[in-house]
Amino acid sequence: MSLRLSLSQPHRSLLGYQAVATVWLVMGLLNGPVFPKTASAATASELYENALSRERALAAPSRPQPPSLRELQTLIRRYEGIVRQYPRSGYCDNAYWQAAGLALTAFKHYAHSDDRRDSEKFLELIQSEYPSSSLISAIPGRRDRLEAIAHSHARLRPTLVTSIERTLVDDGVRVTIGLDAEVAYQYERLANPDRVFFDLHNTEPAQHLLDGSRSFSNDVVRKIRVGRRPNDTTRVVLDLANVQNYSVFALYNPYRLVIDTVRGPNEPIPPELARLAPEPLPPTANASGDFSLSRQLGLGVRRIVIDPGHGGHDPGTRGSGMSEADLVLDIALRLRTLVAMQPSTDVVLTRETNTFIPLEERTAIANRNNADLFLSIHVNASTNPRARGIETYFLNFAANPDAESLAARENASSSRTMARLQGLVQTIALNDKLDESREFAEMVQDSLEEQLRPTNPTLQDLGVKQAPFIVLIGAKMPSVLTEVSFLSNQAEALLLTEDDYRQRIAQALFNAVLRYQRTLKNVQVATRP
Ligand SMILES: [Zn+2]
Repeated sequence: MSLRLSLSQPHRSLLGYQAVATVWLVMGLLNGPVFPKTASAATASELYENALSRERALAAPSRPQPPSLRELQTLIRRYEGIVRQYPRSGYCDNAYWQAAGLALTAFKHYAHSDDRRDSEKFLELIQSEYPSSSLISAIPGRRDRLEAIAHSHARLRPTLVTSIERTLVDDGVRVTIGLDAEVAYQYERLANPDRVFFDLHNTEPAQHLLDGSRSFSNDVVRKIRVGRRPNDTTRVVLDLANVQNYSVFALYNPYRLVIDTVRGPNEPIPPELARLAPEPLPPTANASGDFSLSRQLGLGVRRIVIDPGHGGHDPGTRGSGMSEADLVLDIALRLRTLVAMQPSTDVVLTRETNTFIPLEERTAIANRNNADLFLSIHVNASTNPRARGIETYFLNFAANPDAESLAARENASSSRTMARLQGLVQTIALNDKLDESREFAEMVQDSLEEQLRPTNPTLQDLGVKQAPFIVLIGAKMPSVLTEVSFLSNQAEALLLTEDDYRQRIAQALFNAVLRYQRTLKNVQVATRP
């Protein structure tokens, strides 16, 4: 409310009836109303006071509900009427101010953008028509308020599930859920009947998706059902038949969730697919545009070595009552369970308990087992408590036995040798495995980013890097070391305590292995430029 006192605007609380009448007379002379006054015409003051008392009644704490849209709009028209009838009275800026406030209340409760626009319009009218009003200084604050309300509405509005598509692919069925924006989701596979359900939080399905379930006569996803659950949750259920395993990942622009199911060994390949794929596709080039030896030879990944970092007397980094050694072992065991579901891939762990394994021994295990892929899992730490996120390293010294032994010697000692090692990294940059390692590292990083962002929305993608990690040196296969979150960051430490978060990490690493396998087997159709 403006407190300006001027000739044309009486300070209402200080004036008695007589004074009001006097001022009214002056007002009439100076800023006479458009219509001739009759004995019964209410003054601007009376109209304004009347509207104010109605507004107070609407806002009374005894009322159980917020005012209805209609009550608010009726009152807004009353304030507008004062300005129409007495455009030069001192009440006009106040009337607009009150009307702007009522429109804001309407916007807050009913979220119609019309009411936001009306509120803005009244504020603009005060600025343009009453530039000397003392209310002008309060306008930015009110605009901020409107902005904040608009933001909270945007946050609360459920995201639309726009489409659900089912496509037959070489090794199974892909289901793609299209969404308007990124959402938080959970999923779980259940038995009897075999199904996997997805709960998409703060979403609503497009109308056409609610028209019952869709059934399919062939292949491993037999039915897709969409339903609404409490709290704006959309549940999508895939009824499965003979699915060996499945993976879940998100893609962006536009955001979509992809569920890849893999056909079980006894499931017939649908005839339309058999017709479509008469001959194998050419090898997929890696990111540098080359065809690596393993790609040229069409070699797959038959054995993967998973290396949970640290263990025994070396707990790794510690924080929030946890040790890196325990965390990464838990993740590695979860990952092993996922990989073991694929009968075509063997999995070897460098340690299965809390024991110490020298770094060199870890790669030796991988070499002895003729592994095709080596994945070392670590948890990060920093002296900066705000540092957080995921990063993945690659390095491979395999091709050159001299380099291998040199690296082993150099690594036994101090940081003095690091510059030397950096040189070695350059030397092996031509190595075929280096490209494969970088390729796999990128898949690991992307996959972690996709899986973790829903529960860790401020996740920092620290990227794929190369560094002379001792544990990677000497491995004869593509090798990657991933740092899956920071234990030194309070928020990420809290996430790491959750089973769900560690399972997501395992799932992400598994998805990366699957993707890597697919590029080697040329299952992935897309060829990079
Ligand atoms: Zn570590």
